[in-house]
Amino acid sequence: MERIRVSTGSRQCLEDITAQVSDAVRRSGVEDGVCHLFVSHTTAGLVINENADPAVARDLLEKLEALAPSDARYHHTEGNAHAHIKSSLVGQSAVAPVAGGRLALGRWQAVFFAEFDGPREREVAVTVVSAGRAEAPAEVLSRERQANP
Ligand code: ZN
Repeated sequence: MERIRVSTGSRQCLEDITAQVSDAVRRSGVEDGVCHLFVSHTTAGLVINENADPAVARDLLEKLEALAPSDARYHHTEGNAHAHIKSSLVGQSAVAPVAGGRLALGRWQAVFFAEFDGPREREVAVTVVSAGRAEAPAEVLSRERQANP
């Protein structure tokens, strides 16, 4: 597992981190597997969606704001209750396949760090798992026992 650092530029934004995630996948040396991303923050999240038209990210942020307005009244009085709600709506993790040593996103897809209470220094944990290691432990043990009785 490695950590990617993200400096978010404003209070609420979607930062495209696809290049950083792709670099982490390349460094892992995994050819075929899964890239798991996790954000250990309660007022941020991860989104995989279109980056070709920036209006998509803008629409997403605006609709989230309509669902949980920044200036509404909440029980949580730290001033960032809306950010906790938005974080819960988008989720703290994302998974994408790794094929041929690369992050196998769709043509129009990008990985975004979703900031709802910035600007801040944030982190994303990236874990790249090889499909070759995804065998059931019982099967592995049984095979080893047969090989070394
Ligand atoms: Zn809070």
